[in-house]
Amino acid sequence: MPAKIYYDKDADLSVLKDKTIAILGYGSQGHAQAQNLRDSGCNVVIGQRPGGPNYDLAVSHGFKPVSAAEATEQADIVNILLPDEVQADVYRESVRPHLKPGDVLMCSHGFNIHFEQVVPPQGVDALLVAPKGPGHLVRSEFEKGGGVPCLIALGEGASDKTRQIGLAYAKGIGGTRAGVIETTIAEETETDLFGEQVVLCGGVSELVKAGFETLVEAGYQPEMAYFECLHELKLIVDLFYQGGLNYMRYSVSNTAEYGDYTRGPRIITDETRAEMRKILNEIQTGKFARDWILENKGGAAAFKATRRINRQHQLEQVGRDLRRLMSWINAKEV
Ligand code: NDP
Ligand code: MG
Repeated sequence: MPAKIYYDKDADLSVLKDKTIAILGYGSQGHAQAQNLRDSGCNVVIGQRPGGPNYDLAVSHGFKPVSAAEATEQADIVNILLPDEVQADVYRESVRPHLKPGDVLMCSHGFNIHFEQVVPPQGVDALLVAPKGPGHLVRSEFEKGGGVPCLIALGEGASDKTRQIGLAYAKGIGGTRAGVIETTIAEETETDLFGEQVVLCGGVSELVKAGFETLVEAGYQPEMAYFECLHELKLIVDLFYQGGLNYMRYSVSNTAEYGDYTRGPRIITDETRAEMRKILNEIQTGKFARDWILENKGGAAAFKATRRINRQHQLEQVGRDLRRLMSWINAKEV
């Protein structure tokens, strides 16, 4: 069944007229959604802890940030735009005690609601409006008069009135200018996790690393391996982005296209596909969520160590030196 898509004409900003919207967190999504809503005429209050650059940023944008508890107290609609792993604690301590019946509790990713780390009280509907892009794009497209497509999903038992609020919110951040697709919190959460684990972050990083290591082990120069296995990936992904796999295959040489059809399926094998299904099952059954929640309860010790080890990979050292030769790529260092 094709997805239901909403546009500007399906959304009425006036349903937000007498409401106050709390944006908790002035990070990537928070700063973008808050400013877009304000520019759309909505009443916005920022809940942001003091002492960091995001607090100062909110002030420099003309907001008067208050605590998460105070913002929730003032608001009718509360959007938690904090990192997923801190949402449950902040919710329990600062949000839950200040929610009243009729309030709407929002998020931009369903992890905590779906896995019941955040459970809205009786009389409070859960609502997801998730831009399909990073915050800076949500802001810059809005300023140009456009918008980033969004997802909308209702929590269990939420009313149609909450859907109207969600559509108005999506309009306020520019989403309905591009299109808003209706989904469920389960579908958004599970597909998002699957995509980042199997393809976008996990899959592609391991593919790049394995290709690089294979060439280097075979005695080729690391610089050559870096260019072939990492740098040129951007050219390919840009073609995917513009015209799908077809356009990439149209644009590359016939030799590359022949190698793609005949060798690609030997890399992503039946065994790989079986593992993908296993990973999907771990997402669906909550095993991944439990692992990640417990990892954070343990101070993220293994996560931090793994991050440190990965940052020292030869690929990163070679890449750092090569990127200095290419002034146009706006090289970044973490
Ligand atoms: P960020 O990491 O950019 O958010 C950081 C914000 O959270 C800052 O205001 C930070 O304050 C605050 N914060 C961090 N830790 C704490 C804490 N322990 N207590 C109180 N405040 C804290 O988050 P994103 O905008 O990336 O993500 C927000 C939500 O949006 C998530 O659910 C994410 O999944 C979702 N999302 C994100 C997208 C993206 O592209 N980034 C895309 C779509 C959805 P301080 O500066 O003081 O640390
Ligand atoms: Mg995502």
